[in-house]
Amino acid sequence: MTGTPVLEAVGLHRTYGQTEVLKGVDFSVDKGQVKALLGPSGSGKSTILRLMALLEHPDSGDILLNGKQLGVTSTSDGRSRRLPERKLAVQRRDIGMVFQRFNLFAHLDVLHNVTLALTEVSGIRKAAAVDQATAMLERVGMADRLHHYPGELSGGQQQRVAIARALVLNPTVMLFDEPTSALDPELVGEVLEVMEALADSGMTMVVVTHEARFARRVADEVMLFDSGTIVEVAPPEEFFDNPQHDRTRQFLAKLH
Ligand code: ADP
Ligand code: MG
Repeated sequence: MTGTPVLEAVGLHRTYGQTEVLKGVDFSVDKGQVKALLGPSGSGKSTILRLMALLEHPDSGDILLNGKQLGVTSTSDGRSRRLPERKLAVQRRDIGMVFQRFNLFAHLDVLHNVTLALTEVSGIRKAAAVDQATAMLERVGMADRLHHYPGELSGGQQQRVAIARALVLNPTVMLFDEPTSALDPELVGEVLEVMEALADSGMTMVVVTHEARFARRVADEVMLFDSGTIVEVAPPEEFFDNPQHDRTRQFLAKLH
């Protein structure tokens, strides 16, 4: 499959203290593609998502969205400089991120959690924001909970609100960081269903997950990440049924 890369990471390096967490990662996701990212705890999966969401800067390497380099600007002497926060915030709108812990505002009701990004970040008027947010909450099956507070919702419901909050900004790509790992098992399915519907609608997605069945069914490609590098990338049938690397076989043996 040769598609158009939407989001690309080129040669990403990131070190925390003495620990080299990303050792030169090259990654790309094509338009409408779903990539599942698997790997052991501490291998750098969240770090790569945070870098691609422009929540942190790489030590070196580039992030590109539709071919345009993000997070930096070139100066007149041809060097690149980090963008100021205000401009980063604008670029971040194109990259939706859903976290393991839903990160909703506890003191705001469901509707307000979703309209806030529209009114504050995108400068959309309140009435229009309410319409768009309500439509998005309907899409994730939360239209009957508009005036509930996060504390009154199950984890699965909170995560669906978090997905609506990211989607309402009309992102080009959605990044999910273990979106079901903090949920009770019986609540995992409702979140995966929303994600699968989103994938079916053509959204470009990168999903860090331990849900092998979901990855097999929904992902176009599955990748194993270990110790800051990509070990294996393959279509799901090959990845799960005929992995090429010992490291992948070891990882899958523990997963089942
Ligand atoms: P994963 O999501 O695969 O579990 P992470 O990207 O969260 O892995 O973390 C990879 C490694 O980087 C871990 O050893 C973690 O302790 C370390 N790390 C992540 N974020 C930070 C940080 N802000 N400061 C210091 N170390 C960090
Ligand atoms: Mg993580």
